[in-house]
Amino acid sequence: MAKYVYFFGRGKAEGKAEMKALLGGKGANLAEMTNIGLPVPAGFTISTEVCTYFYANKKTYPRTLAGDVSAALKKVEAAMGAKFGDPKNPLLVSVRSGARASMPGMMDTILNLGMNDTVAQGLIAKTKNDRFVYDSYRRFVQMYGDVVLGLKPVHKDEIDPFEVIIEAKKKERGVHLDTELNAEDMKDLVGRFKRAIKEKTGHDFPEEPMKQLWGAIGAVFGSWNNDRAIAYRKMYDIPESWGTAVNVQSMVFGNMGETSGTGVAFTRDAASGENMFYGEYLMNAQGEDVVAGIRTPLPIATLAEQNPPIYKQLDRIRHTLEKHYTDMMDIEFTIQEGKLYMLQCRVGKRTAFAAIKIAVDMVGEKLITDRDALARIEPDQLNQLLRPVFDLKEKEAAVKSGRLLAKGLNAGPGAATGRVVFNAPDAEAWKKKGEQVILTRIETSPEDIKGMDAAEGILTARGGMTSHAALVARQMGKVCVAGCSALAIDYGTHTMTVKGKTIREGDWISLDGSTGEVIEGKVATRPSEVLRVLIDKSLDPKEAPVYRQYEQIMKWADRYRRLRIRTNADQPDQSANAVAFGAEGIGLCRTEHMFFGEGKIGPMREMILADTVEERKKALAKLLPLQRQDFEGIFAAMNGRPVTIRTIDPPLHEFVPHEEPAQRELARQMGITYEKVHRRVESLHEFNPMLGFRGCRLGIIFPEITEMQSRAIFEAAANVQARGIKVEPEVMIPLVGNVKELIHQEKIVRQVAGEVMKEKGVKFPYLVGTMIEIPRGALTADEIAGVAEFFSFGTNDLTQTTLGVSRDDAGRFLVPYVEMEIYPKDPFEALDRIGVGSLMKIAVEKGRSVRPGLKVGICGEHGGDPSSIEFCHQINQNYVSCSPFRVPIARLAAARAALADAPAKGGKAKRVAKKSPRRR
Ligand code: PEP
Ligand code: MG
Repeated sequence: MAKYVYFFGRGKAEGKAEMKALLGGKGANLAEMTNIGLPVPAGFTISTEVCTYFYANKKTYPRTLAGDVSAALKKVEAAMGAKFGDPKNPLLVSVRSGARASMPGMMDTILNLGMNDTVAQGLIAKTKNDRFVYDSYRRFVQMYGDVVLGLKPVHKDEIDPFEVIIEAKKKERGVHLDTELNAEDMKDLVGRFKRAIKEKTGHDFPEEPMKQLWGAIGAVFGSWNNDRAIAYRKMYDIPESWGTAVNVQSMVFGNMGETSGTGVAFTRDAASGENMFYGEYLMNAQGEDVVAGIRTPLPIATLAEQNPPIYKQLDRIRHTLEKHYTDMMDIEFTIQEGKLYMLQCRVGKRTAFAAIKIAVDMVGEKLITDRDALARIEPDQLNQLLRPVFDLKEKEAAVKSGRLLAKGLNAGPGAATGRVVFNAPDAEAWKKKGEQVILTRIETSPEDIKGMDAAEGILTARGGMTSHAALVARQMGKVCVAGCSALAIDYGTHTMTVKGKTIREGDWISLDGSTGEVIEGKVATRPSEVLRVLIDKSLDPKEAPVYRQYEQIMKWADRYRRLRIRTNADQPDQSANAVAFGAEGIGLCRTEHMFFGEGKIGPMREMILADTVEERKKALAKLLPLQRQDFEGIFAAMNGRPVTIRTIDPPLHEFVPHEEPAQRELARQMGITYEKVHRRVESLHEFNPMLGFRGCRLGIIFPEITEMQSRAIFEAAANVQARGIKVEPEVMIPLVGNVKELIHQEKIVRQVAGEVMKEKGVKFPYLVGTMIEIPRGALTADEIAGVAEFFSFGTNDLTQTTLGVSRDDAGRFLVPYVEMEIYPKDPFEALDRIGVGSLMKIAVEKGRSVRPGLKVGICGEHGGDPSSIEFCHQINQNYVSCSPFRVPIARLAAARAALADAPAKGGKAKRVAKKSPRRR
């Protein structure tokens, strides 16, 4: 016969912690606590299978359930020495939901069940406390009337009908607080409540306890499908098929006088992770009083003075629970007339800081292993250690007081506060004056680079997770909120309007780049300890406990990961930051970003506007020493680590001015006519520049550009090598879809490499490879691998081209798309494994079928996304490359991917020898 009901009490339970699927989280943990000898009021759990049956059978129960419930109730009565419905010695119970995953407050609960007029009399005789009894009674009728009999507000503006009755009573009695109502008043409320239920719902309030019990069980199962629960399940991906269990448990009372009380606690501080008992309690109160905030609860430490024996017992339980569950637990307890009872325990929710500290401490205490610690820290939680963060209380207060202006994409994590400026030159100028600024643009372009660098944070109205603003901000380690479409920005008047408010240049705003929130005014920030140690070098690690935790996690992560971690960087300082974060090489140096540096944009524009090859070569000759200097800086900063440098990629129009005054200025500088500049710029116009004249197409039509860039790379390599620093340049050709494109470019690169080695009389290793970022490239990877010595997935473009979705224009429809679950997440943020991922798999397989040692990496923004990194591990890539500040996140994500993979391969995760491919 199927077992549907599981008893717990008197030190023995039929369930256990592992049975969460059947008993729900609450039921399984009540059973577990009982089994390990903790004082748990006796009760029983009706399994989730009954819930499944209930919905599959028109809300009826299995035939044997009624008998099982009665039998379990008898055991509870025996354990508690009281009888359900017996006026002389009554047992009251609570009826609560409990699903496999915690769904706080989403389903229904009924307390004090088993009460009626005669039971109330018996309880008064027993407790000599008529106010307590009638207060419990009226709470029961109120909850039951609401949850089971359906007397609740009909419209959203309506006040709870029971509260209306209580308010009327208080008015009649001339009092303000519920606590000022006496026993007679409570008794009167019981009567009024019952009459209101009858009048408004037509139902009689059931006096018979068994009838009450079945009503409550049905209501709790029914609440699995209430609107709130459905919405919550959707939000947290909880399957409907799981169902809820129902827990029926003897009531214990914290409101039976001064020797009773109730509280909630965490076995460690859930905010800081400190190993100290953390919680609060109230004497002579019920659980809801602690939550409702009518009375101020006391810190748990006070209990040590107020009731030392109970505190000691509770503290012992705290240690027992941590040892048993090997985690920080969240508990609920009640003291009834000097006796302690445990009502709930579950793994406690915690901040990122606490998660990290607790995991590291618990390894030190030998409660868990280093692998457990890695599995418990979500890679993105590391962001909290690496970025400035807002003072949480201040931010909460700001949001509560209506200062939240809008929400955009959380494109660059961290907290920034500053004064609004609307263009890049202003950002630079204000910064020079010592101001903190937030650069606010409709969207950014490469021209804004210096302004972005000067700003504390970047806010844009348009663009997605791989828009220029987003990817450059991440590379620079700047806070960024992108695609915030609620902003109406007017460059002309230097204002923006949002939510009916006008924000002017110079006004303070704050950005939370981790949540995408834009807040009016200043919010205080706290700098990152890790950054102060690693980047600013302004803090000694000995003085930096948070840094030491970070360092420990990184050590463990490096022990288990197989993927190597590189970075996307195009400046020496970015490269140095990335190395400090643990980068093992550069996976993408976007050379075009360099053209906006000091003195370079002029010759670059000359090159673009040139009419003849000779003119173009003249301009390129000016660029050569500048680029060479950049590469030297990067090779030196990377100190022997491999550096992948990509030849020019973006459409040329991005480098020239589009406004008339700037074009006139350029014409003046170049000594040519404005008309000529204007005509040439117009001729660069493309309807679809992302699919236009860009990538390797530029180097094929203008081979002298590839020639100049190759020369700059190899001369820099030779010069740096001459300084005694090892170099490993890897030249990467973008947007290759046809092997002939690569053959064309490879020839130039190799020719220049040969020339430079000959000229300088040196040898250095180098590779030539390609980006795989358009579907044809992936599908013909076997042909391409005949030439390419490495592949790097450009998943920004590969996503754009596979989905046929413009990465710059997607904001408008991708957000609703994700809400409608067409894509589970923004595919520019988390790799679309089914679509884009299939192409990547094909490319790896085809590529290695021709060149078995082919090195494969990723340098699209997905290279810093934990779920995408897991996929890269699964398809056997060699490395991922991400922005410098995501390097630690990638290290952890790679380790977790390796550990998750280990059991499937039948053994321990091993550090795989990291061999370099053959070099020439
Ligand atoms: C890519 O397409 O993923 C990539 C890294 O190149 P970019 O973002 O510069 O086009
Ligand atoms: Mg690309």
